[in-house]
Amino acid sequence: MIEPTTFKFYPISVPTDSELKTVNFYLLSIDNQLLLFDAGWTGDTYWEVFQQTLKNNNFSLSDLSGIILSHHHIDHCGLVNQIIDHYNIPVYAHEKAIPRLKREDQFLHHRINFFDELYRKFDCGEKGKQQVDYLTKSLEKNRDLAIKAEIFPIEQAPLDSLRVLHFPGHAPDQIGLWDQESMILFGADVLIQHISSNALVEPDEKGGRLPTLHQSVESLKSIASLPVQLIYSGHGAVIQDPQVLIKKRLERINQKGDKIISLIQKGVSTGREIAQSYYGSTYDKQFSLVMSEIIGQLDYLEMYGRVTKTIKDGVYHYSCDVSK
Ligand SMILES: [Zn+2]
Repeated sequence: MIEPTTFKFYPISVPTDSELKTVNFYLLSIDNQLLLFDAGWTGDTYWEVFQQTLKNNNFSLSDLSGIILSHHHIDHCGLVNQIIDHYNIPVYAHEKAIPRLKREDQFLHHRINFFDELYRKFDCGEKGKQQVDYLTKSLEKNRDLAIKAEIFPIEQAPLDSLRVLHFPGHAPDQIGLWDQESMILFGADVLIQHISSNALVEPDEKGGRLPTLHQSVESLKSIASLPVQLIYSGHGAVIQDPQVLIKKRLERINQKGDKIISLIQKGVSTGREIAQSYYGSTYDKQFSLVMSEIIGQLDYLEMYGRVTKTIKDGVYHYSCDVSK
């Protein structure tokens, strides 16, 4: 491995009981700046490990000059408000992260309407309504999670030679940091060693549906085109052989697509039917994740002409030409 010469980095890794294994974030020392790339989850454990890492490397909290967020998910920005309470330092993120991190009311209301319509189109009935209720309640419950700091566009972050790369798919606002010299990528959740990173269905600014699986595939291919040696991820171990793992992930996506095609050929036609046939009782247990997966796949298959849909009473019905 080639050590980077233009910056130093200090990984912070907190074990978790979830399938994520660890939540990873990083101190980056660039020139005279000390930046935090991602900010873990909320809670005392995260705060303590963060403090300990600062101390072990002869830094203190007051040395921190900015926070860079890879994307808006809660397990990546947990400590931001707590840090900001001590020192009001700038936070940098992709522009699409801003309404999400700020939990802007109008944006979140539009987002709930988007899911309401989405689950109807995909025939999700009662389960869809429950999820929309849950999102509506979370609006109030999670109000305090809004990031209090001013958020600046990522382009303004003092990253010197580290390049910001956009990796939409898992989240529309996801970015990574790339060092050409050492061929190290800080990739957040774009690629995780031990689990496949979900492409989560999300609306765009106009309320349309983002082609999230397509975006994920493109993001993975864009990484494969780099001479990347190591990826420091948002969860789990350092990825030592990125090209092999990317190939595996892309193959798996295609296999899932093939399985969905075979279900449709058997006459399963709505989103819910496909999800239940594919995932069984996991449909009920992990509804939003399962539907993200199925919707992402159906959009992707449709984009490549492998399935077509018609709409009947407001519900999509999928079919495919057997000869293809
Ligand atoms: Zn995430």
